[in-house]
Amino acid sequence: MTARPFAKGPLGEPEAGIGMTSQRTRDRMVARLRDKGITDEVVLDAMARVPRHLFVDEALASRAYEDVALPIGFEQTISQPYVVAKMLEAVRGGVPFGRVLEVGTGCGYQAAVLSACAREVYSIERIKPLLERARANLRPLRLANLRLKHGDGQLGLAEVAPFDAIVVAAAAASMPRALAEQLNVGARMILPVGTDTQQLIVVERTAAGFAERKLDLVRFVPLRAGRQQ
Ligand code: SAH
Repeated sequence: MTARPFAKGPLGEPEAGIGMTSQRTRDRMVARLRDKGITDEVVLDAMARVPRHLFVDEALASRAYEDVALPIGFEQTISQPYVVAKMLEAVRGGVPFGRVLEVGTGCGYQAAVLSACAREVYSIERIKPLLERARANLRPLRLANLRLKHGDGQLGLAEVAPFDAIVVAAAAASMPRALAEQLNVGARMILPVGTDTQQLIVVERTAAGFAERKLDLVRFVPLRAGRQQ
């Protein structure tokens, strides 16, 4: 697998983007992320390149670059751009991403952003028709370093582990130990933890065990066990 070079411009086919879905609109979204305190240029550059409007229903495309979560069907949501940026910045910690696991592909947006800043990305989704939709959304971007899997992401991906980073896009009641065990020493996992009140937690695997750090309060859909056809 080869990582995409950091070419300028959007990923995939040249877009016919005009108005609310244009590069300029995306650049404005990135400027707002900077205003809110995101400084990781690798993440900001990736978010400037991934056409978020391709991941939401056409009826919502004009809202795709607002800093809000939007519905993607199956009672799930595409994460708010600020939360995606914050999570990727925190889990990267300024170190280049090697092999990354995402739990909760959803519509595939964050997977595309990860693909633009990591060497290889694996993303697991438990709802099969949502995974098929993500595949369709991602196809035009032709991301050679991204693999999607249908399964229960709480179990991670033992056949591919260890990972240099794990990003969980659904809220766990407590830290899923099986996932943390698939981190390399020195690698980090970021996940929302909690039921009513949720908080982003960064878990770092150290030589001695695991160290946790708490970040922002957030609102995510719940992490659920098992997979759904
Ligand atoms: N990453 C997405 C957001 C996805 S929302 C984005 O870019 O916008 C969270 C997703 O996690 C939902 O699609 C939900 O079905 C999925 N999910 C919940 N529990 C899961 C599990 N155990 N394994 C894999 N996916 C899970």
